[in-house]
Amino acid sequence: MNLVICEENRCTGCMACYNSCPKQAIEIIQNERGFYRPQIIEEKCISCNRCRQVCPSLNPAGLEQQEESPKTIACWTNDASLRSQSTSGGVFSGLALAVLRQGGKVFGAVFDENFAVKHAVAHTAEDLEAMRGSKYVQSSIGDTFQQCKKYLLDGVPVLFSGTPCQIAGLKNYLGKPYENLLAVDIICHGTPSPLVFQKYLAYMEQKTDSSVASVQFRYKRPSWTRFSMRLVFNNGVEYQKKANEDPYLVAFLNDYISQKVCHQCPYTTCQRQGDLTIADFWGYMSEKRKFRNTEKGISLVLVNNEKGENFLKKLDGYTFLEKGLEEAKAGNQCLVKPIPQHKDTDAFWNDFLRDQDFSRVVSQYFYPRKPNIKHQISDKINDSMWLLPRGLQNQYKRVKKKLKG
Ligand SMILES: Cc1cc2nc3c(=O)[nH]c(=O)nc-3n(C[C@H](O)[C@H](O)[C@H](O)COP(=O)(O)OP(=O)(O)OC[C@H]3O[C@@H](n4cnc5c(N)ncnc54)[C@H](O)[C@@H]3O)c2cc1C
Ligand code: SF4
Ligand code: SF4
Ligand code: SF4
Repeated sequence: MNLVICEENRCTGCMACYNSCPKQAIEIIQNERGFYRPQIIEEKCISCNRCRQVCPSLNPAGLEQQEESPKTIACWTNDASLRSQSTSGGVFSGLALAVLRQGGKVFGAVFDENFAVKHAVAHTAEDLEAMRGSKYVQSSIGDTFQQCKKYLLDGVPVLFSGTPCQIAGLKNYLGKPYENLLAVDIICHGTPSPLVFQKYLAYMEQKTDSSVASVQFRYKRPSWTRFSMRLVFNNGVEYQKKANEDPYLVAFLNDYISQKVCHQCPYTTCQRQGDLTIADFWGYMSEKRKFRNTEKGISLVLVNNEKGENFLKKLDGYTFLEKGLEEAKAGNQCLVKPIPQHKDTDAFWNDFLRDQDFSRVVSQYFYPRKPNIKHQISDKINDSMWLLPRGLQNQYKRVKKKLKG
């Protein structure tokens, strides 16, 4: 009997297979590196092959309805508090609230009581709070595709948000388009290992002698572009370290701890899985002084089809600016190509899996990165760019591009 659904290095953990099995013959396990994976229970399996038919790594979802060069929007909520709680400009919350107002349901990633990340459903605006904020850890989909389908069949409007591979899995699982589904994918820099994240939390708890009460991966201090990891502990201690200083963010942003498949991700293209794609607008530049408030966060929205376009019009209380796709691509590599793998990735995993001692790998691999002088100067220039007239901004960008070669 064939117990492999797709090869390990192509599996994204989207769980379309798990949700589709008619005999509940698939369980979710964590592989050696801690990623969620499907495992067939031999005694229950009837070899119907359904799991392989829905697997998007074996059978990519159709993209006929999707624009190849989607309309590109910069946007942010005018609600300062909501904007500061959100990862970029808070566009997810606007979309989600619009669906809830129609009596709909919203699916997205939340922490459970042990800070494991999983997909869940929000019924109310209060439930959305847990979904807000990027969690840089693989999310467990569980049976949320099945829950989503039930709502869709009952005619309930549904927003399902997730990584492109999760949205591809959902679409294959559903097997046909639903008018009442709004699928929202993110531009994705890979999903890190839940095992490494748990070891990081245990390491931080030991150092602080207290348990973690809350986690923010994208705390907007000093600013949106220079974000920090923020942990609050039950003894009242607050920890905040910049992205180049916190060991977990160093590991994530230097591409040590994501799934193997992320380094050959098939979703790093402008033809997207979602009706809308949301992200940080890292390449954002504004002509108007009034709109040069980048430090608070700007969302990038790619409008991938007519449904997405009609839905975006329902957002109230947001500032929208139409931009060019090239500007989006310039700041977001993951629209163009997969993340590279750090050259020491294999050495890190070998060392880490030997005793799973996080403190040892911190000193060896995830030590604070001092921005080199070139980056420090470039950061300073980027921070002041908004003060310059548009012509000078463009000239600077051209010179930079030339120097990069
Ligand atoms: C793992 C990961 C990698 C990302 N990589 C990039 C990138 O390379 N470039 C870029 O521009 N943007 C990236 N993003 C998207 C970005 O961080 C914001 O989610 C996006 O800008 C929306 O911001 P917001 O202000 O609307 O949202 P928020 O309110 O912060 O939106 C949160 C949304 O993200 C979803 N989400 C959070 N964590 C997860 C998770 N672990 N798995 C699946 N969905 C999750 C929630 O369900 C919700 O829909 C990434 C997000 C994640 C989770
Ligand atoms: S072959 Fe059919 S029964 Fe067996 S695990 Fe796959 S979907 Fe389930
Ligand atoms: S459907 Fe998703 S989780 Fe299942 S084998 Fe394929 S990629 Fe992996
Ligand atoms: S990088 Fe690609 S394969 Fe990896 S989690 Fe993101 S969408 Fe999925």
